[in-house]
Amino acid sequence: MGLMDGKVALIFGVANKNSIAWGVAKALADAGATMALNYAGEVLKRRVEPLAAEIGCDFVEECDVQSDEALDNIFNKVKERYGKLDVLVHSVAFARRDDLGGRFIDISRDGYAQSMDISAYSLIAMAKRAEPLMINGGSIMSMTYYAAEKVIPDYNMMAICKAALENITKYLAADMGPQGIRVNAISAGPIKTLAGAGIPGFRDLLRHFDVVAPLRARVTPEDVGQTALFLASDMSKMLTGETIYVDSGYHVLGMTTPRDELKPKTEGEEA
Ligand code: NAD
Repeated sequence: MGLMDGKVALIFGVANKNSIAWGVAKALADAGATMALNYAGEVLKRRVEPLAAEIGCDFVEECDVQSDEALDNIFNKVKERYGKLDVLVHSVAFARRDDLGGRFIDISRDGYAQSMDISAYSLIAMAKRAEPLMINGGSIMSMTYYAAEKVIPDYNMMAICKAALENITKYLAADMGPQGIRVNAISAGPIKTLAGAGIPGFRDLLRHFDVVAPLRARVTPEDVGQTALFLASDMSKMLTGETIYVDSGYHVLGMTTPRDELKPKTEGEEA
């Protein structure tokens, strides 16, 4: 018996084998869940379909989360095919290159609207369509990052999106709790993915993480997948409205400069 036998999971955000959503999809499929995946655009279809086949998933539908019609279509297809939904995973984000890096005050009005629509509002749009399908209750989760809370260089627009996403998580948890639907967010440490590579200075961020994160180990999509499995399953049945950190403990630090860099450079030098 798998932990997720008989459960149906719809996952948004697999782009390739490095995607966090792919780590989640593998973990849920390994535990016995029936999987449904989206892809965004024809180019990604060619990448996602073979991955889906690896986990025995033949439900792969195009869905740009900015389109209400496309969202209606994918949720209707889940209803037609499975009659219900148990787990919804939101692992989707976008920001224009110009709105990442540079000065924060240069964020554009158009870019702000587009990023917030794709990276934050879409969770509300998905939750609304998932609710009538979650006839036995359900678990909804999204992927966030520490830049929602503290200033991380260059995250700029995406930091605003993540702050919104974490707040939306709490409001959805309160709104959907009476229906037995739980809503949580996973705050992952930095992972080399397509989205991650879009952040200027991302390599520096990874190197910094390597030397200061308490566990001194980088987070992988598979690590996120295991926590997603916990959130998807009844093991977390009384847990909602939370942001869970899968970040090697980075978020507990109050001082992040490696000790070696603070040592006096010359003998006898005083602080
Ligand atoms: P990724 O590039 O593999 O995934 C991002 C996904 O968003 C892609 O599948 C892409 O197709 C999808 N997407 C973008 N615009 C879309 C649209 N209009 N409609 C539908 N889908 C769209 O990168 P990832 O790092 O796996 O990102 C997944 C989530 O994890 C994002 O929310 C990201 O912000 C978050 N996250 C990433 C990191 C990291 O360091 N990589 C850390 C914490 C949180």
